[in-house]
Amino acid sequence: MKIAVLGAGAMGSLYGSFLSQSGADLWLIDIWKEHIEEIQKKGITIEEGEASYSIPVKATIDKSQVGPVDLLLIFVKSYQTKKALEDLSPLIGEETTFLTLQNGLGNDEAIVERYGQNAILAGTSSFGATLLGPGRIRVAGRGETTLGILRGATTESLEKVAQLFRQSQLNPRIEENVQGPIWDKLLVNVGINALTALMQIPNGRLLDHKGLLYLLEQAVREAEEVAKALQVPTSPQPVEKTKKIAQVTGHNFSSMYQDLHNGRRTEIDAINGKVAACAKSVGLPTPVNETLGLLIEAMTEVKQIK
Ligand code: NAD
Repeated sequence: MKIAVLGAGAMGSLYGSFLSQSGADLWLIDIWKEHIEEIQKKGITIEEGEASYSIPVKATIDKSQVGPVDLLLIFVKSYQTKKALEDLSPLIGEETTFLTLQNGLGNDEAIVERYGQNAILAGTSSFGATLLGPGRIRVAGRGETTLGILRGATTESLEKVAQLFRQSQLNPRIEENVQGPIWDKLLVNVGINALTALMQIPNGRLLDHKGLLYLLEQAVREAEEVAKALQVPTSPQPVEKTKKIAQVTGHNFSSMYQDLHNGRRTEIDAINGKVAACAKSVGLPTPVNETLGLLIEAMTEVKQIK
């Protein structure tokens, strides 16, 4: 199978290097020249626990070098998706299947809007990774990859992708309705990410303050109501699950915390912002999610992040 990973950051490099070991013809594509040049010279250097190892992977900034692929895995940040989807013509043939494992909502819609004639898979990843510098990532934790059909794909093609993920230690789990796990993950992110970013605290500290705990609970409850109104089959007790995750990952800093801390844009529009937008479409109020969205937006402006 010929695969391209669009966005060779922390997660793109993790999935790309693991998938390449299954014998797939795999390319990493990114716009960051220094990073791609380092991968071309030394492969992806992966730190995991005490171990450090390198995996050779083909990498380029030039899509025409790759040609049409069977599977195109999108791993840019959600606010980069629309732009990254432009000008993919060298990579796309009639048989190309898209796959997004990005966080938040709206990435799948952007793919459908532009490439709806192609098969599209979606899912979630509970692996964790950090980009350390050009050509180098740290695997923060291994988990599973949920996979499901968004539109146009056959169960055979989904199973083929899942088989490849199995061979690559990416622990796939096929989901009948993939919106369920996408929203399950969203509900957790809605409760933890914006609050930890605004407060600049690690996840566990949310549980130490009555006010923050209240906001976490309200943000998740609002999003849960929106999921119900949209008839998305989410797992039960998302508030309890979010608190448990904040506790278990108590010393970790959320990706939104890290993005704001390092002067980068955040994925707020695809998380709390998207919950508020979906709520409007079904006539539900989401004051906490709306406020969190506005505060992160204001922080982004104050820090002059473009
Ligand atoms: P990242 O910022 O490390 O990587 C994104 C990469 O995309 C960068 O290397 C960037 O240069 C590249 N890029 C930007 N615009 C591009 C374009 N037009 N064409 C090609 N490449 C482009 O982000 P990440 O942490 O790997 O996250 C990717 C997605 O996965 C996000 O939605 C995130 O929420 C989700 N996710 C991340 C983790 C994690 O642990 N990092 C875990 C689960 C899900």
